[in-house]
Amino acid sequence: MAGKIIKVSGPLIIAEGMQDSKMYDVVRIGKDKLVGEIIELRGDKASIQVYEETGGLGVGEEVVSTGYPLSVELAPGLIEGIFDGIQRPLTTIVARYGDRISRGIEIDNLDHDKLWGFKPLKKVGDQVHSGDILGVVEETMIVEHRILVPYGIEGEILSISSGNHTIVDVIAEIQTAHGVEKVCMLQRWPVRKGRPYLEKLSPSSPMVTGQRVMDTLFPIARGGVAAVPGPFGSGKTVVQHQIAKWADADIIVYVGCGERGNEMTDVLNEFPELIDPKTKAPLMKRTVLIANTSDMPVAAREASIYTGITIAEYFRDMGYNVAIMADSTSRWAEALREMSGRLEEMPGEEGYPAYLSSRLAEYYERAGIVKLLGSDNRMGSITAIGAVSPPGGDLSEPVSQATLRIVKVFWGLSASLAYRRHFPAIDWMVSYSLYVDRMKEWYSDNIATNFNDLRLFASTILQEEAELDEVVRLVGMDALSPQDRLTMEIAKIVREDYLHQNAFHEIDTYTSLDKQYKMLSLIKTYHDEAKSAVDNYVDIEDILSLPCKEQIGRAKYIEESNLAEFDTINENIVRELNTLKDGGIDND
Ligand code: ADP
Repeated sequence: MAGKIIKVSGPLIIAEGMQDSKMYDVVRIGKDKLVGEIIELRGDKASIQVYEETGGLGVGEEVVSTGYPLSVELAPGLIEGIFDGIQRPLTTIVARYGDRISRGIEIDNLDHDKLWGFKPLKKVGDQVHSGDILGVVEETMIVEHRILVPYGIEGEILSISSGNHTIVDVIAEIQTAHGVEKVCMLQRWPVRKGRPYLEKLSPSSPMVTGQRVMDTLFPIARGGVAAVPGPFGSGKTVVQHQIAKWADADIIVYVGCGERGNEMTDVLNEFPELIDPKTKAPLMKRTVLIANTSDMPVAAREASIYTGITIAEYFRDMGYNVAIMADSTSRWAEALREMSGRLEEMPGEEGYPAYLSSRLAEYYERAGIVKLLGSDNRMGSITAIGAVSPPGGDLSEPVSQATLRIVKVFWGLSASLAYRRHFPAIDWMVSYSLYVDRMKEWYSDNIATNFNDLRLFASTILQEEAELDEVVRLVGMDALSPQDRLTMEIAKIVREDYLHQNAFHEIDTYTSLDKQYKMLSLIKTYHDEAKSAVDNYVDIEDILSLPCKEQIGRAKYIEESNLAEFDTINENIVRELNTLKDGGIDND
């Protein structure tokens, strides 16, 4: 039975006669059949957020519930896709209808006609359970798309069909307790509901990004959650690109909520140009892009992060490590605020609804490392990184605060570091990672037993520098003891030669953990030897002008294939400083 519109307020409409529908049902509105979703039901009145322009809609027009919640299509064809917030395929729409999305477009989210080569991994007679891998499709040259037995189905395979199929062809028949299930590659899943898994595990290993400041000082765990707040120009985009390119994740899902129309266009232009350093193929070959420009209705922006995380979960369920980036969650929260305002809900802080924090938490909770359904003990993970763009860089505003209460890693980009061209402009004095403690074992088992000591050494020296900075400001550098001078110099080496990393330099753009360890070890050796020399009254200027100091500065440009060079530099440091010390003793 159809309801009728009684009020239109921007992206929100209210309809009566909706008693037969359910909360979160998708509805079709008016003669153009615009897409909307019920977000509040009171008696027979439904509040509906509309994913398309509502201009021209009028009171009395029909509203029909589809009876289904907002869902995404999951099947081969996701990778390389560029979708809007409710998974409409932007590239296809633009090709077919031009730049502006016309309203009420009936278009499949994924291509239902394209043929994919399906290779079964199971055979007739096999017993299968939800989550088992039925077979695989080579979706791109990098991604093997694993077709899973859909949730809720288990039984014996009656037929399974290799070869070319569309995603809606039946590829297998399974005899279940309730009859024969015909399975195709396409599955649908409601975006607001997390996909099931067996067990969530505690994150204990890092997702290595190759970015020294992150991996060494503020590492993110595989399955962890991080926030990157940053004012304009502080390097947010470069950080996201670096993670997309270098993080050891199999699949990247990037949800862009652009500030202005053109900002998102930048993403749409830039992302497809990025090259995957590991395969030398375009990064898009393992990426799904969800894009919202500001000229798209706010409701679609609200839905986009759920669409994104559902797609991420689907690839996780195949056994992949997925990284999802949302840029920026502030724009998403603004969409939430606008819808809440139109619903005339009681506003919380700065007009955001009281449920802002719980919605953000629901999103980030869907990240994690999990044991998957299926009988082969697969694991998969989603690591979630959310950019936050607080107005004026003020982190006390509600979205930043709510985010900080949830995430465990905080990479605070600083405008002043960016201004001084220290990149990545992650401020080591305010950033943190709550995963450090539980990953210590991983670092000492997999990289080096003293990796954690080196991390502590680096962060302590930066801390000491900050304290000494105060003293220098008051009484000047000359008042410092030689030991404190040395601390300042070592901290400078840590900042300039270690933390500073040029994303655009061929070698410097990525540093493996092994190389990070070797680089840090050099600085530690230099520190220890120099300290002992200073304690032996060697002039600090003599120490600073040793050739080995310059070698430390250039160590970041040593190729990954040439790490043995670090041992030579290490020997040089010890030798040169010992010569100074011996010289010092001779002079006595
Ligand atoms: P935002 O997205 O925060 O506005 P961008 O990511 O576009 O800022 O960065 C602004 C500029 O800063 C870039 O064009 C680049 O020149 C410089 N930059 C940022 N990060 C790095 C980096 N890691 N290495 C070198 N340059 C960087």
